[in-house]
This record gives sequence, structure tokens and C-alpha cells, in this order.
Amino acid sequence: MTNPLYDALIAPQSRHSGPLLLLADGREVSGSGFVTLVHGFAAGLTALGLKPGDRLAVQIEKSAEALALYGAALAAGIVFLPLNTAYTAEEIAYFVEDSGAALLIGDPAKAEALAPIAARFGAKFATLDGAGRGSFADLAAKQGADFTPVPRSRDDLAAILYTSGTTGRSKGAMLTQANLLENAEVLVREWRFTAEDRLLHMLPIFHTHGLFVASNVVLLSGGSMIFLPGFKVEQALAWLPQATTMMGVPTYYTRLLAEPRFDRDLTAHLRLFTSGSAPLLAETHRLFEERTGHRILERYGMTETNMSTSNPYDGERRAGTVGFPLPGVELRITDPETGAELPTGTPGMIEVRGHNVFKGYWQMPEKTREELRENGFFITGDIGVIDAEGYVSIIGRQKDLIISGGYNIYPKEIELLLDEAPGVLESAVIGVPHPDFGEAVVAVFVAAPGEAPDPQALAAGLAPRLARFKQPKRYEIVAALPRNTMGKVQKNLLRDTYRGLFA
Ligand code: ATP
Ligand code: MG
Repeated sequence: MTNPLYDALIAPQSRHSGPLLLLADGREVSGSGFVTLVHGFAAGLTALGLKPGDRLAVQIEKSAEALALYGAALAAGIVFLPLNTAYTAEEIAYFVEDSGAALLIGDPAKAEALAPIAARFGAKFATLDGAGRGSFADLAAKQGADFTPVPRSRDDLAAILYTSGTTGRSKGAMLTQANLLENAEVLVREWRFTAEDRLLHMLPIFHTHGLFVASNVVLLSGGSMIFLPGFKVEQALAWLPQATTMMGVPTYYTRLLAEPRFDRDLTAHLRLFTSGSAPLLAETHRLFEERTGHRILERYGMTETNMSTSNPYDGERRAGTVGFPLPGVELRITDPETGAELPTGTPGMIEVRGHNVFKGYWQMPEKTREELRENGFFITGDIGVIDAEGYVSIIGRQKDLIISGGYNIYPKEIELLLDEAPGVLESAVIGVPHPDFGEAVVAVFVAAPGEAPDPQALAAGLAPRLARFKQPKRYEIVAALPRNTMGKVQKNLLRDTYRGLFA
């Protein structure tokens, strides 16, 4: 009897000597201590009446216990459904209802709001806080740590992970045992993870990056993690000396670079920094190399596909690209209208096929049919291009494409020019409704510290470099671009803010 993910990620921990998790308060959790937690929690889930295939929704702070709860769901064959800690009770209601969760585990501080939601949709409710305390921990402690993992097949669901909701309502991506295990195996090999590695883990574990990329890779390789509740520059500086690797979103790297103490000495012994979830500016890549001597390894993936591409470990890590398709992943560029494959060098829709591609959207057969082709290719919604050497670059999301006066405009082309303009720190280019053109190009930008770039000068700088129809009709200065917890720019919020500009 096997349970592929449990057998590969959890069971082997009890054989490792040394800590598995190093926590912010100095506590350490050994591999066998972790397995004991997992078994106790799995017994707790079973005691609450959950059966294999049932959904477990969790909205809890990141902790060793929160990770053990993921392990417990794997052991008990329960479909894990982690939720962003920023979601409000009403947002949680949507996920509990949509998933038909049998149990919701939430923070005790939110129990008053969450318990009635669980009750409304016939789910049980229990609590677990950031220190691992709560009604669920109490119940689990009563069960003892004897638990026999439930057999699972490779095709069984391990998780329903909701997408970030950057472009609309979050969708539940059904991920199988094989999806997660094979992707972790590929990443361990490609990024050379071993039992010697210690990852600085500051990402949230309700998202694919922190849970399925970072945690699965470390669990599979037998290494350890410095498992911190979130990203803080001071904490990162304090823990980096003990790490061999770090995974981050681009904002982690820009914030570290803003700190002079982040330097070559502090990072000399690390072997790898990776970045993903949002585009890493080529400028950040360059500054990082200048400061530390390391080239950040950028990769690309999404909730529905886990990781699809990566820059090479040994070969050239090329700034502004996301590298090559991973082994076992096919990536093609198609015409967004017709679906016909496009030649090298032509931008179009990124489609991916392979072990990594999810099984479909939970209870959305229609949407699944629209985006997941019968031949197995998933239409990602991202526009990209492959160059002659095979490097993939992400140009932007199809949904962010601007259509002005009948012309297609990719915001990235304009953003790259603006980001280089004197006095500009960063920019986001959006389309807003316009009575004549359908949509008009609007540039939203953040000034570099101490600078106040003049929109007229920016416009004059772009004029010789961009066709007239691509030139922004308005420049709006903001203090900061709206970003979610993964550092993704929320263009939908910007479009809402400026939708009346030409009305
Ligand atoms: P939703 O699908 O609900 O609108 P989302 O697409 O932001 O939300 P995720 O699955 O968390 O939800 O994010 C995947 C997306 O993140 C990708 O489709 C891509 O647009 C972006 N992304 C991930 N890695 C990179 C990268 N290295 N460079 C540029 N974009 C990236
Ligand atoms: Mg998406």
C-alpha cells in the first residue's frame, strides 16, 4: 500500500538526524518530531470524522504545526485547501461553500467570525494559532501519535489550491499526488537540492510558491528550513548566515538590496537564490549580481501548473527571462485567437503540457474545457515568447493586453522603457475605457526616491521610441503600486481607480 506524497515527503523525515525546521523563536523541530506532529494531526482529522477525499480548508498563521497539518492531510488522504491569511470572513465563506469543505481550521482570534461560516455550509470548525495551540491541537493531543497512512494512487487529489485572484475570482485548481511529487522531483534535481541544504523560507504557505515549491523541495531532498512567519529584512539578515539557499518573490530581493548590510560577505556562502511569482526586473537581477556576485535564478509557474520553466543551474541565467521548460514539461506559443502554433520569436499565448499540469478547476467543467485542451495543453493566459536559444520570456497576461484604436498593445513594452526613464522607480501600464479608442493607454508610475519626474518629459522621452498609438495618453504618479502578498501588481485595482479618466 502506498501513498506517494506521504512516502516521499513525510515518512523519510524520521530518519534524518538534525533539525528539519528552525523557527523564529529559536525552537527547532526535528524530523521525527515533525512526523509525530503529522501523525497526531492525522489522527485528529480522522477523529473529527474526515474521510479520504474530504476537503480540509485552513486559514492559519504559518508555523511548524501549519506545515504538519499539510502532512497530516497527505497521510489521511484528505484534500488540503490552504487559504490566504488576509482573506476576510466573507471571502472564506466563498471557499468553504465552493469546496464543500468538511472541516475549516482557523485562527482562534477569528473564531467568532469563522465558526458561523463553517456552520452555514455544514462544515465542522476547529482552531490552531501561530504557536500551534487551539482546539484542534488539543483534540489531536488526545489521539496519540499512532497513525497508519491511508493508501493513495498517483491520480488522487492531494490539494485544491485556489489561484491568487489577480485577474478575477479565485479558481480552485485540482492538484494530484503525481502533479506535486513529480514537479518536486524535477526541481530537486534541476536546482541540486541535497540533505546539506538549509533553505531560508519566508514565503507564505497558502500559495504554491511557499508550499509546493519551497516546502516540498526541502522535504523531498532531506534538507532543512529556517521557517519564518513572513518576510522581514532584519530577520533575513539575521538568518542568512545559516542558510545555503533562499527562495523569494521579487520584492524580497528589491527590499534586501535597499539595505547596505546585504552584501557580498553576508551571501558568499549561499549557493542559490531563486525568484518567481511575479516578474523580476532585469535591473534587479543586475544590481543583485553587482552587490553579491550571485545571479538570481528566475523561474515561472502558476497554481494550475506548479513550475513550468526555470533558468539553468549551470548554464547562463538570463535576466528578464524565465529560462527553459523543465524536464517533462512541453511549452509552446500559440495564436491567442486560433490556437495555431507560432514560430520561434513570435509572441503569443503560452501553453504547457506535462506531469505538472493540474486535473482541472474544481466544479468548473466549463472553464476547465475552455482552458485545458483535450490534447493536454493548458492555456495559461500568459503571453510570452521563445528566443532562438530556447529561453522563454513572459510578456504579460492576456487579460492585461490593451486594445486601443484596434491595435493590440502589450503593457510590458512600454513599462520597460518607462522603468529606464530618469527619475522613475517602477511603472504599470494599463488600458482604461476611452470614448474614441475603446481603451486608452495610461502609465502609472512611482518616482525614484527624491525625484519628481515631469510627465511631459517622460512623454517626450518615449515619443521617438514608441509608435504613437502605444504612447500613454496620461501619466499618473503614485506613492506605490498596489501589490498582493506575493508581490504581484494588481492591475485590476489600478484599472478601477482610473476607469473614469476619459469618461
Ligand atoms: P488568477 O489566476 O486568480 O488571476 P494568478 O494568476 O496571479 O491569479 P497564481 O497562480 O498565483 O495566480 O500566479 C500565476 C501567475 O503569476 C502566472 O500566470 C504569471 O502571470 C505570474 N508569474 C509567475 N511567475 C512569474 C515570473 N517569473 N515572471 C512573470 N510572471 C510570473
Ligand atoms: Mg492565473
